Amino acid sequence: MQEIKNNIIAISRDISDICIKKGKAPDSITIIAVTKTVDTDRINYAIKCGIRNIGENKVQEIMAKYEKIEENVNWHLIGHLQTNKVKYIIDKVALIHSVDSIGLAEEISKRAEKAGLVKDVLVQVNVAQEETKFGIEYDDTDSFVERLSGFSGIRVKGLMTIAPYYDDAELARPVFRQLKEKFDMLAAAGIPNVNMKYLSMGMTNDYKVAIEEGSNMVRIGTGIFGARNYDL
Ligand SMILES: *Cc1c(COP(=O)(O)O)cnc(C)c1O
Repeated sequence: MQEIKNNIIAISRDISDICIKKGKAPDSITIIAVTKTVDTDRINYAIKCGIRNIGENKVQEIMAKYEKIEENVNWHLIGHLQTNKVKYIIDKVALIHSVDSIGLAEEISKRAEKAGLVKDVLVQVNVAQEETKFGIEYDDTDSFVERLSGFSGIRVKGLMTIAPYYDDAELARPVFRQLKEKFDMLAAAGIPNVNMKYLSMGMTNDYKVAIEEGSNMVRIGTGIFGARNYDL
């Protein structure tokens, strides 16, 4: 358990260092502790150590853990979301990072309206065009975001990407830079119902590079909880 605390302290310090170098406020970066496959005792311990945002990639895991987790945290759905599972998490998650189809956006909007909510979402972009990854194509981002602006039960809050895994995180830098460019362009476009606030990019292996390139939301699993076996 102590190791979780040390990891959180070390990561926070690294983030502060980068922010100071870049002239940004350290608290402008949101750390999402990715808790997939982590048991609820360990998650609650991380929360005690200051974690306020937790990310899961599976609806079933959110359902299984939801009641056992301290209440003062924001849940993030960071993995692929099937349309037929939206109804289970609509009132549980603060932010859905993985909107990548109009059908999914439509379902989220419908369920949110039914629950009297407006759901914050990010658009997942497959910047590197990896076949194994979800997300819309980079060149479709503008038209996709514009279509989403028409759904009254959702509010687009930014973009998300998963960079390809490289041993040398420097190689992911162009991917992050490209998405930041799109993010800034869309922010400047002033599309109604679209508020480009969060740029969710960077994981254990590459979060430092991602922050240097403008990420303000990093999703860190292994770096906090140690190595685990899982599929993305
Ligand atoms: C698992 C996962 C992460 C965290 O990965 P680590 O390398 O363990 O930090 C981040 N984002 C998504 C979408 C994930 O599924």
